[in-house]
Amino acid sequence: MFFMQTLIRECLKGVPPEVVSAARDEHIDPHRMARAIARGRIVIPANPGRAHRICAIGEGCGIRVNVNVGTSVNRCDIDLEIRKARAALDNGADTLMDLSTGGDLREVRRRVLELDAPVGTVPVYEAVRRAGSAGDVDSDLLFRVIREHCEDGVDFLTLHCGVNLDAVDALKTDPRIMGVVSRGGAFHVAMMVERGEENPLYAEYDYLLEMLAEYDVVISLGDGMRPGCLHDAGRLAKSTEYLTLAGLAKRALPAGVQRMVEGPGHIPLDQVGYNVRMIKEMTDSAPLYLLGPLVTDIAPGYDHVTAAIGGAVACMHGADFLCMVTPSEHLALPSPEDIMEGTRVARIAAHIGDLVRKDQSRTWGRELQMAEARQRLDWDEQFRLALYGDHARRIHERDGDMETCSMCGDLCAIKIVQEIFDKKGGRE
Ligand code: SF4
Repeated sequence: MFFMQTLIRECLKGVPPEVVSAARDEHIDPHRMARAIARGRIVIPANPGRAHRICAIGEGCGIRVNVNVGTSVNRCDIDLEIRKARAALDNGADTLMDLSTGGDLREVRRRVLELDAPVGTVPVYEAVRRAGSAGDVDSDLLFRVIREHCEDGVDFLTLHCGVNLDAVDALKTDPRIMGVVSRGGAFHVAMMVERGEENPLYAEYDYLLEMLAEYDVVISLGDGMRPGCLHDAGRLAKSTEYLTLAGLAKRALPAGVQRMVEGPGHIPLDQVGYNVRMIKEMTDSAPLYLLGPLVTDIAPGYDHVTAAIGGAVACMHGADFLCMVTPSEHLALPSPEDIMEGTRVARIAAHIGDLVRKDQSRTWGRELQMAEARQRLDWDEQFRLALYGDHARRIHERDGDMETCSMCGDLCAIKIVQEIFDKKGGRE
């Protein structure tokens, strides 16, 4: 049998150049990173057909942030989506996903792929657009679209292989309030129910893996059964899908395909750690890509915050990759400002996660410097150290230029104590 050369297979034999470069960025021994890639614990989404900045995702790496952009039928402005993508990259996004469903989908993808970042897509969206409805998508069309995305240079594909007939049964026997909230998941459920057939991505998974190996594209095993509200978190469909995804994740490695697994949507905070650890254990520590998790359902307009709270806790327990949520989640297609705000908040959640899982000698120095700058009331240094210093400076300076800040003014606690110590002798 002829085996396509893929990053996993190269890592079984040595340390490819892209691994040397990614390992340098992560301060990880390149041989260790190569072993982790071969074992499926780190992925580097980098389609050999397209050159761009690369990043590693998974065990021992910094937590990554993905930002979704893309047209809808109601708002289809490619230039606007590119502006959003640039805003995301300028504000700390590591990867982009093009989730377009409106207009010339190939043209949007071509424009997004011009940007200097790893790019992911969800090919079933385009298959449904071309067929007219989910029920009219057959396996030929779906695989043809997947191949086109690989040929175009997409680096990772969300493929809902675990949304199979067992998952549909689980939905029926243990119904959920929100049913299915994943768009890709809903398309596959509609395809199976309308056509009376198994999901082709599940039924023909070996063929799918052969195709992905041919282009060395990362599979992101989509969580089409993610709960859409806290009350659905404990229902059967999610667990059924995870059991399936665990088996599929394992099958990717001998096929030479790098894999990630996507994680739950809406779950209570006290279930976040358990879910993350369970998925990690079941998949032999595949990189885990989380959509949220959103830890309350009653804060529309602030779902970027609820997702960041869930995301930070998830990262503490082992999640590797956060999908940014914007303030317009559940409400509208995000604006460029929403993308900027969501990216920043997700980046902060990722940093909080890094603080408790990366080598502390690399992550805590800046925290210490910030504390010292605050103690000295050294505002310029605080803004230099801040993740988003310009924003912090604007807030500080809106009440004028002052030694302390307008919160306490001349009653500044830091200043009072420092002056007392200076006068009476105390700490330096
Ligand atoms: S004025 Fe108050 S809030 Fe501002 S730096 Fe001093 S202690 Fe902190």
